[in-house]
Formats: sequence, C-alpha cells, structure tokens
Amino acid sequence: MPIKYIKAFPLRYPEPNDHNNTRYIMLVRVETDDGIIGWGEAITMWPEASRAAKIVVEDGLAPMLIGRDPCDTYGIWLAMKEHTWWYGEGGIASFAVSALDIAMWDLKGKILGVPLYQLLGGKVHDRLRACVSTHPSKPTINEMAQELAEHIERGYTALKVGFGKKGEARLGFEPKRDIAFVQAVREAIGDEVDFMVDYGHPVRMEVTQAIRMAREFERFNIRWIEDPLRTLDWEGYAQLRAAIQIQIATGEDLWTIADYRRLVRAGFADVVLVDPGRAEGITAYLKVQELTAHAYQYIDAHAWSSAIITAASVHLTACASNYIIMELKPFPNPMQHELVSEPFEQQGGWIAVPTKPGLGIEVDESVVQKYAHD
Ligand SMILES: [Mg+2]
Repeated sequence: MPIKYIKAFPLRYPEPNDHNNTRYIMLVRVETDDGIIGWGEAITMWPEASRAAKIVVEDGLAPMLIGRDPCDTYGIWLAMKEHTWWYGEGGIASFAVSALDIAMWDLKGKILGVPLYQLLGGKVHDRLRACVSTHPSKPTINEMAQELAEHIERGYTALKVGFGKKGEARLGFEPKRDIAFVQAVREAIGDEVDFMVDYGHPVRMEVTQAIRMAREFERFNIRWIEDPLRTLDWEGYAQLRAAIQIQIATGEDLWTIADYRRLVRAGFADVVLVDPGRAEGITAYLKVQELTAHAYQYIDAHAWSSAIITAASVHLTACASNYIIMELKPFPNPMQHELVSEPFEQQGGWIAVPTKPGLGIEVDESVVQKYAHD
C-alpha cells in the first residue's frame, strides 16, 4: 500500500487558551493507494512559516515519498533528512519532516491495525498524569489564582503557568508581583499540586535575576522553572543549576537530535522539553527520549497545539520511563475539540491512552477546510 497523495494545509485558528490570539499550524494529510489516511502536524507559529513548510512538503519531499511504503518510517525519515541536509538542520525543513514523520507513524499503525504505542515499544504507563498548562490573562492576582484553583478542582494534580503571555496578566516582568502571584496561587491550589513556572519568550532575565527568582519560588515548592534563560545561555544555566534546588526545564525550541544530544550532555536540564511537531517527529522524539532516560533526566512533550500533536505526545509519553506530567490546555478550543471526534480530556487527573490504530484519532476534514488559509 504505497503512498499516493501528500497534501499540506496551513491552518489559522483562534486560541481561547491564549487570550483568543490567532495561532498558526500546518497539517499534512498522507493517503495510500488503497485510501488509508495519516495525519501529521508542524507547530509553525506564523503564516509565512506554514506556507514555507508546505512548499518543502509538497514540492520538495512529496515527490520522493510517493510510491514508498509508509511503514518504513525510519528509512523515510532518513531520506527526508538526506534531502534537506543543505538547508535543514532546524527551521522550516524540520517542520516539514516533523509533520510527515508523524503522518507516516499514523499510517503505519492504521496499516498494521495497532495503536501507535505498540509500535514504540509498548506502554510503560496505562494512563498519564494530567497537567493543566495555562496562560493566565486576567489583570489581578486574585482573579488569576481563583481561575487556576478552579482548574485544580476539576481534577488536575499538576499546574503549569506561562509567564510573559498575551492579555493583562503581566506575569514575568515585575519580580515582587511575580512572587506575590506564586504565593497566592500556592495558597489557592494547596500544597499537594505540582506547580511549574514557565517563562515565555518575551521575558528576559539574566542569570543573577533568575537565581534570585528561583530562590524565592523555592519557598512555595515550585516543581520546575522553565526557560528562565535563553536556550543557548548554557554558561548561565550551569550557574543557575549550581545555585538552586528547583528543577530546570528547557529545550522546547530546539530542533534536532544533535541539539538534544548536546543539551542532555551539558547536564543542567532536569526536564528536557521536546515538541514532536517541531523537533523532527516521532522518530526523533523516540531517540531523544532514550538519550534523556540514559542520562537520568526527564522528558516532557511540549504539546500545546492540536489534537494531532497531543495524540503523538500521549503515545510517546506512555512509552517513556521518565516522564512527570502530560500537558493539556484547560479551555475548549478549535484544534483540540473541533478537529477530532474524541478530544483528549483528563478524568480525575489522568489522561487515557488511545487504543485505536495509529494515533488513535479521527480528524474531521471539514474542520481542516474551515480553518485553512493560503
Ligand atoms: Mg514552555
């Protein structure tokens, strides 16, 4: 059942979990000659990146993949890397490779009639601990603490809060207010909940400030601090690691296995974040997962996009010995709740692992059309 058609879809959608900000992704649809369809996603972020990735998928990679057996996932991944070697150590080529690789694994599961986790070595976990991954946008600390506590009341046992996000929250820019916020949230959610602070790209701290903030956060039992420094400030990270007790999480904006090999070896990251929709798909994620496990570090799927990335991340995480939490967005949203017939939800703080073949999701193509853009 060789590959017959490959098509890429740049999508644009409003994200209620990000202050209704418009977000962009690119999906790929791969169909075999007997009509089996696999889906993949790249988290391209901007419309021009979606369009550029679509060209790499349709004009660059599709011609060499048509006619191949999608079950040869590693051979196809290597062929894509080989084709893009001159321009592809990261960036647009990695988006294209990511989306196509995920679609191949989805197809492979559907062709063989087994869920993805069985292709990845089998489950280590039957269910995953759900973390509510939030971008608070309300203006006052009290309003935000109350909203976050309401998520916990719904069953979550872990909470991640994004600083530097859209809206009126202003988190990450005023140290005293940030400390008051963390204290208020800890009081509102209780002592038992794992609480993570995630610094977004607009926030810039240098290492002494990051050390000062982390030491303040230690008083409120913060589980990990995420991306407090620029990703490539490795000297800063080494100083931070030596100075604080809180776990350090980073890596969500890296691209390749080679990037992650260097990060893992550097040793300062307790939690390594990997997005299968950016860092070259399920094939690469699996290899990074092994690197982190052998280095006694944790891996965390940076899954904050569509249900396709969530599905890939749930299967991968179910097969990982070294995970802490699996992230979900709190509020219903188009790419999780419209795109697939059975959205991922937590129940009593846990996420079930899909058992249908491949990714285990059913993509509604009318929703793909609804949010498609040129
Ligand atoms: Mg993050």
